[in-house]
Amino acid sequence: MRVFLSDCLNINESGHLTIGGADAVGLAARFGTPLYVMDENEIRLNCRRFLKSVEKHYGGRGTVAFASKAFLCKEMARLINSEGMSLDVVSPGELLTAEEAGFPMERVIYHGNNKTAPEIANLLRAGVGRVVVDNIFELEMLESMAKSANSRVRILLRIKPGVEAHTHKFTTTGGIDSKFGFALETGEAMNAIKTAAGMPHLELVGIHCHIGSQIFSREPFAHAAEIMLGLFAEANKELDCELSELNLGGGFGVKYVDADEPVPLEDYMETVSQAIKEACEKLRIPTPYVYIEPGRSIVNSAGVILYQVGAVKEIPDIRTYVTVDGGLADNPRPAMYGAKYTMLVANRANSPKDKLYAVSGRCCESDPLGADVQLQEAKVGDILAVLGAGAYTFSMSGNYNRLQRPAVVFVKDGGAREVVRRESLEHILANDI
Ligand code: PLP
Repeated sequence: MRVFLSDCLNINESGHLTIGGADAVGLAARFGTPLYVMDENEIRLNCRRFLKSVEKHYGGRGTVAFASKAFLCKEMARLINSEGMSLDVVSPGELLTAEEAGFPMERVIYHGNNKTAPEIANLLRAGVGRVVVDNIFELEMLESMAKSANSRVRILLRIKPGVEAHTHKFTTTGGIDSKFGFALETGEAMNAIKTAAGMPHLELVGIHCHIGSQIFSREPFAHAAEIMLGLFAEANKELDCELSELNLGGGFGVKYVDADEPVPLEDYMETVSQAIKEACEKLRIPTPYVYIEPGRSIVNSAGVILYQVGAVKEIPDIRTYVTVDGGLADNPRPAMYGAKYTMLVANRANSPKDKLYAVSGRCCESDPLGADVQLQEAKVGDILAVLGAGAYTFSMSGNYNRLQRPAVVFVKDGGAREVVRRESLEHILANDI
């Protein structure tokens, strides 16, 4: 029986939730809770849908880079490598994970709006394929450090195309009032292109934009592509430089709850490629090499977080709280931006969802995982599953209240293997002096 959100979720004959064919209740018993569970086949399916779409629209003139901020561990980097994709990283930790997983450095794109000197030295040492430069200070530092290292680095400039993405204000990044990149409207972007084009140790290969995340309409992407191509054409004409790459970032929306109506990713890709084609014809320029950088849309549908219910507290005439053994520390999204999730009681998954609960975590804040959650009747000891939770959960997790980060398990065709161990208490004390 199919449940919700994703084809990798089902209900077995015991009435238990399954993910990738593995019984969620069995996984909780075997690996403990809280637990991140990711279905490998679902991740690969999402990768291949993007790859197929890029191949269809751009032939060999396009690439998919996975935005590793959405979810990264060594096994994930290996998976992305095996799919032949590129990898977007943004920190020494993400870069090291890729290196340790044997990810080819020429397929790494290094982002970030505040790269430090040691970080730049590190990415030069690693020999990453592309650096996306955010600001003029970074541009100058990169040129000077590349000169000292006697190397030449391929760069793209991050541009704010001034497009309103209609998403949560925390995840809107393409407008002028954003900390990321060079502004188009003010002439800052063109000036930066001029400066970069004249730097002997930097090879300016293209421009990049990322207008935001969890975007549900196609127009902002198409609009951003048109604007970026205008800049592309202007730079190539006026400055006699040879930009050849256009990186349009990620941001494709996914389904968390019933009310969400994301556009199928093939439709986003169709609209954007059409906009690129038309803009290039109008501008009389060849189609550039196109990168897209999806994160959430690759991993979210593949992930579930499993918790154990520790208490059910009824406050008469107000609400009933269900508390679980994780929360803010392993998934800060509900507390950060009111993110909503679909949940169910994994050990009674085929019972009717006829109760309304407030689901809370165990952290010393109100720690809401969901304010009004429709659920099966919940009892102490039940396994609560948060569905569609593969993106920006493990990667955003922390140690608040000195809690240990949960393990990550990959499931596939009914089998399960741990790919990240649960943190130990020694981990918690590791850096204390
Ligand atoms: N590329 C860049 C530069 C980003 O900053 C992000 C997310 O913040 C992404 C890609 C991925 O976005 P999403 O996970 O919404 O696809």
